Amino acid sequence: MTYDCIIVGGGPAGLSAALMLGRCRRRVLLCDGGEQRNLAARRMHGYPTRDGTPPAEFLRLARAELSRYPTIECRELKIVDASKDGSGFVVLADDGTRLKGRKLLLATGIVDDLPDLEGLQELYGASVHHCPYCDAWEWRDRPLAVYGGPEHGPGLALSLTPWSADVLLCTGGSRIVPDAAARLSAAGIKVRETPILRLEGRHGMLERIVFAGGDTVARSALFVCTGQRQRSSLAERLGCRFTLKGAVDTGKCEATNVSGLYVAGDASKEAQFVVVAGAEGAEAGMAVNRALLEEDLAHSARVSGLTATG
Ligand SMILES: Cc1cc2nc3c(=O)[nH]c(=O)nc-3n(C[C@H](O)[C@H](O)[C@H](O)COP(=O)(O)OP(=O)(O)OC[C@H]3O[C@@H](n4cnc5c(N)ncnc54)[C@H](O)[C@@H]3O)c2cc1C
Repeated sequence: MTYDCIIVGGGPAGLSAALMLGRCRRRVLLCDGGEQRNLAARRMHGYPTRDGTPPAEFLRLARAELSRYPTIECRELKIVDASKDGSGFVVLADDGTRLKGRKLLLATGIVDDLPDLEGLQELYGASVHHCPYCDAWEWRDRPLAVYGGPEHGPGLALSLTPWSADVLLCTGGSRIVPDAAARLSAAGIKVRETPILRLEGRHGMLERIVFAGGDTVARSALFVCTGQRQRSSLAERLGCRFTLKGAVDTGKCEATNVSGLYVAGDASKEAQFVVVAGAEGAEAGMAVNRALLEEDLAHSARVSGLTATG
């Protein structure tokens, strides 16, 4: 059988697209590898009605809603390849299953490159974060640190100043250029260019940063910016165009340069929030439904034309 749409990725973007398309009475298959980006976070913030909800609980609620629609099928399946198949697509799962869809939506997200710092894994998602908008409120007026090199570290440190007057930028051994050093100093941000030896804390809560040489600085939370990349290579293999920042370049309603292929969520845009991913998924769902409707109406017109003449 051929699905109306195959969605790869069951994070907020894919779940939202599935809900929209299922409600349009489209036969949807949602395949998910279960590696949603924020699963390490204790709580997610900034999503109306779900501010402070653990990410796994958000996913459980969304999946429960999808289960009410017989038009939506969800499978725990990793998609390892995808290609064009006439006007549609064929995807290959890691268990060897081949699946066909008239349209394909990738909501495959991104992966964060975490710094290789001793002690970080135990604190990640509880007191080590990426995004001030998502997590800085919980640390307002507390001593904060940023870990990042000359390219992104100063910007992240400056962006934290609405939340705390005590921000320390740790560059891990890199030098900050004089211009950036002057801006940081004017904003009251201290800089440490000594490499970090390890992070120390208890029960997920950062207590201090230990620098090479042994001296320590007490900090409550650390924000890191050490890069990110696409979680899946499917968009690249299908011939999608990318932005200079490595996101899939999408146009109106998440359409890509490949006909019938849509990309929504973190994989495609700069603003990386659950609420934005959900909104993009809904937009993509609407666009997929419209494209299917146009095809179906054109097909009906052809058939009725044939009937009338034949
Ligand atoms: C630590 C942390 C905390 C965060 N906190 C917040 C917050 O408080 N508030 C907020 O708004 N945002 C937060 N974010 C950002 C938020 O997680 C993302 O914006 C959001 O998850 C993006 O949703 P998505 O659906 O695009 O991708 P994801 O949620 O990453 O979902 C992508 C899904 O696609 C699947 N997938 C990928 N490739 C394949 C494949 N080949 N086959 C099958 N499945 C595949 C993955 O397994 C994954 O389940 C946080 C991020 C991090 C890292």
